[in-house]
Amino acid sequence: MKALVKTSEAIGFEYKDVDVPKIGPKDVLVKIKGTTICGSDIHAYHSSPNIMKMCQLPIVVGHETCGDVVEVGKCVTSIKKGDLVSPEPHIFCGECYYCQNSAALNCLNMGLLGHTIGGAFAEYMAVPAHVCWKHPAGTSYELGAIHEPVGVGVHSVMSGPINGKSVAVFGCGPIGMFALGASRVFGATKMFGIEVAPKRVEMSRKVFPDATIINPKEQDPVKTIKDATDGFGVDVSIELSGHPEATRMCFDVLKREGRVSLVGVPPGPMEFNFHPNIILKEATVRGVFGREVWQTWWQLRAMLDTGRFDPLPIITHRFPLAEFEQAFKMAESGEAGKVLLIP
Ligand code: ZN
Repeated sequence: MKALVKTSEAIGFEYKDVDVPKIGPKDVLVKIKGTTICGSDIHAYHSSPNIMKMCQLPIVVGHETCGDVVEVGKCVTSIKKGDLVSPEPHIFCGECYYCQNSAALNCLNMGLLGHTIGGAFAEYMAVPAHVCWKHPAGTSYELGAIHEPVGVGVHSVMSGPINGKSVAVFGCGPIGMFALGASRVFGATKMFGIEVAPKRVEMSRKVFPDATIINPKEQDPVKTIKDATDGFGVDVSIELSGHPEATRMCFDVLKREGRVSLVGVPPGPMEFNFHPNIILKEATVRGVFGREVWQTWWQLRAMLDTGRFDPLPIITHRFPLAEFEQAFKMAESGEAGKVLLIP
């Protein structure tokens, strides 16, 4: 089969022939129908040191995916041939301390699809049946493929109370837009989005007429948000950009006793003053890495069932897998929403 493979520390991927993966007794073989590009895939493309530390080379990359089950291992009872599934890419063991304490997201033996376990920019992948989310009948391949990144947006919002709260989302790339969608559905009162890339500003304004989208190059986000919240600031700040300045701003716009959820990965250590920002404000700071298994997936399902937020328009570009170079350029440009690769 054809697959995108990270073979060395060199920049880029190879589009090459590899064997169809073999399944074990507890695995399923999935015929992949589409995989979207994640920020971490872009980091892998460029051989960023943090990602390279996690990768076991050579590795088939990609993890935001869905496909049809075409073969099941002999011990698998929960999934059958023909089911449409998305894997939870944090491949948890189900047996360690954290897995036994409802925290599989932080599994001690975690495998990562597309980093340590052969991934989804390929025609087929083999994954353990116990990490597969079964989509209801009628789910489109595209909606299936973006469940994983939508889940990050949902988890960032639901990592603390949101109902009746005001929220500011820093970074309106795809995950930021998914976070705004989840904020709407789960009951945020006022929503703000902060984004510098003009195309993404334009797209966010179109998808979220119920939010105030702020371009910091045109408007001061702190003043705009304070003015719109009686000078108090927001109850919840969600940081998705990884930009140190945006991270500090999350606290500048935060109401006393508010919550900051940090999702974006900063480029390195950063300077931060804890006293005014956390201690004096009695702020709550929450790190977010992935999705709660399986709470986030069920929340996502409930969100989609309301019909009050459709994440599909946030997929803006589709390419055949062979044209990955072009697809990655588009994903990096700041001009796209989610970019889908189809094997
Ligand atoms: Zn575990």
